[in-house]
Amino acid sequence: MRVTLVRPAALFLAAVFLGISLVGNASAAERIDDPLSVEISTGDVAAFYAIYDAADGRPDAEALQLYIDGGSPGVQGFIANRIVSAENLAAVVRANRHLYDTTRECASALGGVRERVRAAFLAMKELYPEATFPTVYIVIGANNTGGTANSAALMIGLEVVCRPSQIDASPIDVRLTHLIAHEAVHALQQGFGDGSLLSRSLGEGIAEFIGALSSGRPLNAHLFEWTQGREAELEQRFAEAMYGSNSQAWLYNGRGTREAPGDLGYWVGYRIACAYYERASDKRRAISDLLKSTSAREIMARSGWGPGRLCST
Ligand SMILES: [Zn+2]
Repeated sequence: MRVTLVRPAALFLAAVFLGISLVGNASAAERIDDPLSVEISTGDVAAFYAIYDAADGRPDAEALQLYIDGGSPGVQGFIANRIVSAENLAAVVRANRHLYDTTRECASALGGVRERVRAAFLAMKELYPEATFPTVYIVIGANNTGGTANSAALMIGLEVVCRPSQIDASPIDVRLTHLIAHEAVHALQQGFGDGSLLSRSLGEGIAEFIGALSSGRPLNAHLFEWTQGREAELEQRFAEAMYGSNSQAWLYNGRGTREAPGDLGYWVGYRIACAYYERASDKRRAISDLLKSTSAREIMARSGWGPGRLCST
């Protein structure tokens, strides 16, 4: 998933503009070194549904202001451009009552998300001892963002992740774990700055690859099924376009259909990261290289990746 990294300074300005108290804001918090100490907070979901149920599914702005004011740093980080205001949230909830009802059921199945994420973070720490982790806040938003992150917090908009008819039919706690692992890797990446299709796709692919090593599966696992037997043809097309800046056909182009899924750049990026890792004799060093590199071209050149090359990891 595309998560916007909000720089603390930008968040601060947005918060001041909106009159939000910055006391306890996640942007001021520290990242956490020990996976056993990472908090995965679902208290905002419970708080939202207490208000929602008390209003018989029709909470007004005044009621939702209590959710916002009493919300965790995760809710505060979800205000700018997302929840916007209690008035906006009330209008969105009113117009999407069915989704918010569905999300309540979905939230009741969050069951093992804490244990699963903790296990994935423990594995990530083992793979990359320098890793530090954000506090994870699962919140209810205004049906416009699946997730966002700042330097110390990862926020998940549950009503978006719980939308019906997901391509991935896994239980919600499983899906969320792969999403959180993927996003946690993004926070460890140095990043490729040149904006090319290759850089963007490899950035996503590294999050997919290390996320999968940690959590057992990439976020967009369905792409691996669909591309079977078509690897060479698809990657040849990618290779022809990868130095350009137009990534429309490969990234953030919607989920597509089962026959023609979107976001294939995630899959190609995974395959390049995988090739790099498989070729390396020191696997931990390879993981560190993938996270610290600022040159997608260099990683690709050293990976030996080419259209149709097998990758078994
Ligand atoms: Zn991503």
